[in-house]
Amino acid sequence: MNAINYQRKLEETLRTLQGRPTLLLHACCAPCSSYVLEYLCAYFDILLYYYNPNIAPAQEYDRRLNEARRLVREMGLEDRVRVVEGAYEPQRFEAIAAGLEEAPEGGARCERCFRLRLGEAARAAQEWHADYFTTTLTVGRQKNAAMLNAIGQELERACGVRYLYSDFKKRGGFDRSVKLSEQYGLYRQDYCGCVYSRRAAQRRHMQAKEESK
Ligand code: SF4
Repeated sequence: MNAINYQRKLEETLRTLQGRPTLLLHACCAPCSSYVLEYLCAYFDILLYYYNPNIAPAQEYDRRLNEARRLVREMGLEDRVRVVEGAYEPQRFEAIAAGLEEAPEGGARCERCFRLRLGEAARAAQEWHADYFTTTLTVGRQKNAAMLNAIGQELERACGVRYLYSDFKKRGGFDRSVKLSEQYGLYRQDYCGCVYSRRAAQRRHMQAKEESK
């Protein structure tokens, strides 16, 4: 079976838009938001929704949020993009990750993490009367767009707000996010977000150090 091209699905939707609908865009961090904002601001008024109970420690959570706010200011998008902070509730992430602490990145823990964050984005999209909702997460090269889009589709049925399919890493999206991050001097974290991904990154660094001796 051919894999679905979610970038093409996005382009089809963008072609049919009328006026400037409102998009609730779940944001994981400033680097991933940079390209997506540049791309989608031509089509939507955007609520940039920062809901990331997975991020630890709290200082890291704050740092990523502050960078997202700075990015919107420095890109000159304040008239089209409003940053909305969700609740920081790490206990919800800990509950869904229980028993999956050692799961590899991209596996079952990440699927639950995506579900938690996208679920909250769908709920907020209803609350804010947005026309669409989606997430910046598909910019990441390691992020499974098929998994994210399947979750988005389920949530669309449940919440009644249209889900905007995406695979933002395509059409050079990831490379553009790296360029924009350099341009705006954005903080680029070296781990996905949770304490487990942080430990895995530390192990990788130690191993690289050992191998270079
Ligand atoms: S590795 Fe990333 S996506 Fe997976 S559970 Fe941790 S924070 Fe969530």
